[in-house]
Amino acid sequence: MAFESGLSGKIAIVTGGSRGIGRAVVELLASQGAIVNFFYQGNAQAANEVVETVRAAGGQAVAIQVDVTSSAECAAAVEAIGERFERIDILVNNAGIVRDNLMAAMEDDEINLVLNTNVGGVFNVTRPVIPYMMSQRAGRIVNLSSVAGNKAGRGQANYAASKGAIDALTRALAVELAPRKILVNAVAPGVIETEMSQQVRDLADDQVKSRILLKRYGQAQEVANAVGFLVSSMAEYVTGQVLYVDGGFKMD
Ligand code: NDP
Repeated sequence: MAFESGLSGKIAIVTGGSRGIGRAVVELLASQGAIVNFFYQGNAQAANEVVETVRAAGGQAVAIQVDVTSSAECAAAVEAIGERFERIDILVNNAGIVRDNLMAAMEDDEINLVLNTNVGGVFNVTRPVIPYMMSQRAGRIVNLSSVAGNKAGRGQANYAASKGAIDALTRALAVELAPRKILVNAVAPGVIETEMSQQVRDLADDQVKSRILLKRYGQAQEVANAVGFLVSSMAEYVTGQVLYVDGGFKMD
């Protein structure tokens, strides 16, 4: 039996699609024939580059500037996508930030911005998407968690709390939405070579690598592959799961 993604013509939303893991997800879904609407916060040049790359490869992508911490902006953007395409099949909640600091020194901004983006952003985008998926009696939601939700490093209390919340939210939504045939899962990357992890990799390099079973960092594409699986027709019996893509980091 051939592998079949079943993604052709699906309407997808990916948050944080302008760089890193989100960009790899946008490109993967578009390469399988999905029409991908992606949100970015401010880096319009990076977003346009993604659109151009997807179009040059024969795919369809639309970049929309939406700050996921604004529930009004998210609701308006989701509504516009719903009106234009009359359905929403896939949501990948990928946008996320880090603001590492030791807890005693952590500023209000470092706590609030991380929780408002990594957790609040998922509520803000998912809530207006759900009615579409409910009426379709179908849908896939994938949330980007992190190995840090389970096994955090020093100075990551804010980020670890946000990703632990994502794991819990994923399971709760899987329960709530299963009767409408909406599948909800999370992907938890380890250390992936993107701008987000640059500082950690610069500071720790070999010491961190030695704790990863596969002795190397991951690539954005390797995380996108897991997301692609979970939104594809290959994963119709998978819900409420957190899939680690971490080279065995959590096992250490
Ligand atoms: P990057 O920093 O490379 O990219 C972040 C993306 O999120 C950008 O597209 C950025 O947009 C967007 N973004 C940030 N804040 C907002 C916001 N308020 N509204 C809309 N978009 C926003 O991150 P990664 O690709 O590395 O990470 C993606 C996800 O994977 C995150 O949830 C992260 O926590 C998770 N993860 C990453 C790991 C890693 O090692 N890289 C490890 C574990 C988890 P713009 O370009 O406009 O700034």
